[in-house]
Amino acid sequence: MKNFSYVRATSVKEAVQQASTDNNAMFIAGGTNLVDRMKVFLDEPSQLIDITRLEMTRIEPTGEGLRLGALVSNTAVADHPEVRRSYPMLTRAILLGASQQIRNVATVGGNLLQRTRCPYYYDTAFACNKRELDTGCAALTGINRIHALLGASDQCVAVHPSDMCVPLAALDAIVEVESSKGKRQIPFTDFHRLPGDAPQRDTTLEPGELITAVILPPAPFAKSSVYLKLRDRDSYAFALVSVAAAVELADNRIKTARLAMGGMAHKPWRFTEAESFLVGKAANTETFQQAAELALQGAKPLEYNGFKVELAKRAIRRALTVSAKGGGIV
Ligand code: SF4
Repeated sequence: MKNFSYVRATSVKEAVQQASTDNNAMFIAGGTNLVDRMKVFLDEPSQLIDITRLEMTRIEPTGEGLRLGALVSNTAVADHPEVRRSYPMLTRAILLGASQQIRNVATVGGNLLQRTRCPYYYDTAFACNKRELDTGCAALTGINRIHALLGASDQCVAVHPSDMCVPLAALDAIVEVESSKGKRQIPFTDFHRLPGDAPQRDTTLEPGELITAVILPPAPFAKSSVYLKLRDRDSYAFALVSVAAAVELADNRIKTARLAMGGMAHKPWRFTEAESFLVGKAANTETFQQAAELALQGAKPLEYNGFKVELAKRAIRRALTVSAKGGGIV
């Protein structure tokens, strides 16, 4: 392991100023993914800027919606009464995402920045463009059953691992960031990126930018929202596919629909075309099946992950059905 220095920031301003002086510095909070990566030399920062003492630990209502400070633990978000009441798919996604111990230290900001669990990325005996650009992608010809169906490139077919980020995409959350150059907001669906020819970049964050909060806009349709996660074993495994779905009805017709999936792409995948299709339709099995077919029509399976196409369609149908009936645990 390369030597690195450690500094503990006492304010956001100090943290971003410190980061602006060193392109190889990294912020650390819960460290639940970063420390793992450092142990296998995937990340070798020149310095770690500890942000755990910064004032980003509150959940508070604002004019834009419910603001989750970047250092709020995943446990605190999942347990918050307003999150449980108004955004139940977010609570469910977090509870299904990791063990209680990990949720207690993992943060809002860190959850957004966790990296793929593609096994070839973590095993330095294999080629990986995300780890080292232009070296190849072992997953393309390897065991690719957990890999992407949508939005992949010939450079990388990895999927984003987060559960929490799937409902955040469905909710049109907003990511607040700050750097030494100032503050900006990033729409959640623009925060993560597709691999293209730069698979080493997971997000649209610029060097030195620090996530300070995630804002949940008001979402009356989300009260009956559901999160469905399908995985190889029923205990803290990453999703083969997952669905965040919300259906709001008026006169037995669909007034609002939201649909996003995890385990499908390099980013949480939002199905806006299927959402538009659903609006105005009767909420029944046939409608939901048609939406699922529409959602998956662009899927491009690899050698071993073709089963995920049908799995995803069934998951969509089930999640939409449960949401239309008022929500609950799927
Ligand atoms: Fe690396 Fe992406 Fe290929 Fe996995 S899918 S080996 S992360 S380039």
